[in-house]
Amino acid sequence: MRKNIVAGNWKMNLNYSEAKQLMLKLLEYKKNNKTNCEVWIAPPSLYLTTAKDTFDNGEIGVFSQDISEFRSGAYTGETSVEMISSIGINGSLVSHSERRQFHGETDSQANVKIKNLLDKNLTPIYCNGENLEQRKSGKYLDVVKNQTETALFNLSADEIQKVVIAYEPVWAIGTGETASADQAQEVHAFIRNLIAEKYEKEVADEISILYGGSVKPDNAKEIFSKPDVDGGLIGGAALKIEDFSKIIEGF
Ligand code: PEP
Repeated sequence: MRKNIVAGNWKMNLNYSEAKQLMLKLLEYKKNNKTNCEVWIAPPSLYLTTAKDTFDNGEIGVFSQDISEFRSGAYTGETSVEMISSIGINGSLVSHSERRQFHGETDSQANVKIKNLLDKNLTPIYCNGENLEQRKSGKYLDVVKNQTETALFNLSADEIQKVVIAYEPVWAIGTGETASADQAQEVHAFIRNLIAEKYEKEVADEISILYGGSVKPDNAKEIFSKPDVDGGLIGGAALKIEDFSKIIEGF
């Protein structure tokens, strides 16, 4: 049965001492509360080792925010799958919309990154979603279909079941504008159906599909109540323990 997951993407926020404080608060929260979902965080890569050491009982998953498509070598500034694997990181976000927007990342590159992660038994959190213009033109399902097919559909059934998908409409990320629970459900069901048609229903049913885009304490519960929404990828609201914990309690 697929997992419910609440994952926090810290993006390029917090200095070291703020990050450490937030990790300790999260650890304390997790120790004192039984949660009905997995809790994962993706801190800046500089703090991955600290996160791994802080959460050494493995109760909180630690993810990188990006990963190189190259295995090793002369790629200044990049972090390889081998590196995160060697320090016990659980996986990585792949093709977050900010990587697409500011670094021109494509779904073909996402596909390479996803395969590299799976080769090392790490979990990819593959992000996709349409922009505002594509939503307004009514073409958003075509966009999500193309993205999903290019990034995922040359994986085997066994491999694709290990991928977590985060549907994140770009127009809802960091804007305060959230997709309604019904809008999220429509696209999540569409993605699951695409996978069921290409593979098997049983395969599609194993895949956790998270929603991302201005999830807050006051809308999390309703969004998570939808049958094809298996949790959230949370940006801004993951930076305050008060907000992040309330979102976790949406399950
Ligand atoms: C994100 O960065 O993946 C995200 C969903 O951000 P926010 O929650 O701030 O919209």
